[in-house]
Amino acid sequence: MARIAFIGLGNMGGGMAANLAGAGHEVHAFDLSAEALARAAQAGCHPAASARAAADGAEAVVTMLPAGRHVETVQAEILGALVPGALLIDCSTIDVATARSVAEAAVARGFMAVDAPVSGGIAAAAAGTLTFMVGGAPDAFERARPYLAAMGKAVIHAGGSGAGQAAKICNNMVLGATMIATCEAFRLAEKLGLEAQAFFDIASVSSGQSWSLTSYCPVPGVGPTTPADHDYQGGFAAALMLKDLRLAREAAAQVGADTPMGARAAERYEAFVAAHPDPIDFSAIIKSL
Ligand code: NAD
Repeated sequence: MARIAFIGLGNMGGGMAANLAGAGHEVHAFDLSAEALARAAQAGCHPAASARAAADGAEAVVTMLPAGRHVETVQAEILGALVPGALLIDCSTIDVATARSVAEAAVARGFMAVDAPVSGGIAAAAAGTLTFMVGGAPDAFERARPYLAAMGKAVIHAGGSGAGQAAKICNNMVLGATMIATCEAFRLAEKLGLEAQAFFDIASVSSGQSWSLTSYCPVPGVGPTTPADHDYQGGFAAALMLKDLRLAREAAAQVGADTPMGARAAERYEAFVAAHPDPIDFSAIIKSL
């Protein structure tokens, strides 16, 4: 079992660090929030006084932070404390360019690095059932795999550095666009006098089927139990969907890709999040139609 540093013990990182500790690793954890740190200590992690202290002597570091700038700050602080050849695993959702630059900086100093963003929310982080999409060299991926397997149900090598983040934002761009399209279809069906249940029964076995429809139906009382059945509480926050759509838009601009549906989805979520400042599930965008 390894000595691991875990930095960023928020909604996602808290459960993930607990699962690494539960798998028998010695997890030295740090977060700027004292409450998050106390919860991690209760879950079997060793609380550290700083990111650098957590990283002192660690063979592997997992980061689960809000954005690219946080990952850059933490990495700059910890590199000097790690054992030679240590592995850096960044599970945060960040922009592809920063993912590549932090990995390059780590590799240049003799470390290994992967970007390993996740699919699955807070419940999956706590249950250890996340999906990891991993970008990095094959040997770095193989070294990261057992740590990630302790926190998830699937660990997939997406390609070289940054490919994990690319997979994440492309996936979530599809999700944002299909959720809006699904919501539109339910609203149009209603206006045409078609029952929501009838539309669900037909579309879920027809070519309009998608995860947004059959696994995450935005209409209460139809399909499996989803946040729609709990007044759109819990689930995947609309603000996080907006974050991912913005990352997709930024990446598309950088490489000159034409993503009109992704851009429109970002605009719709932009307006929706501005109108709903309190946390609300992303499927609640049906309210805006
Ligand atoms: P969060 O805000 O709950 O947690 C982030 C944590 O990082 C906070 O506890 C904060 O105090 C800590 N932090 C920030 N800067 C720090 C620093 N310099 N040193 C130490 N700690 C620092 O966010 P979250 O919901 O856990 O999301 C984390 C990442 O996972 C994000 O990139 C997010 O986009 C991604 N993600 C979230 C979900 C979700 O459903 N919440 C799903 C998939 C991916």
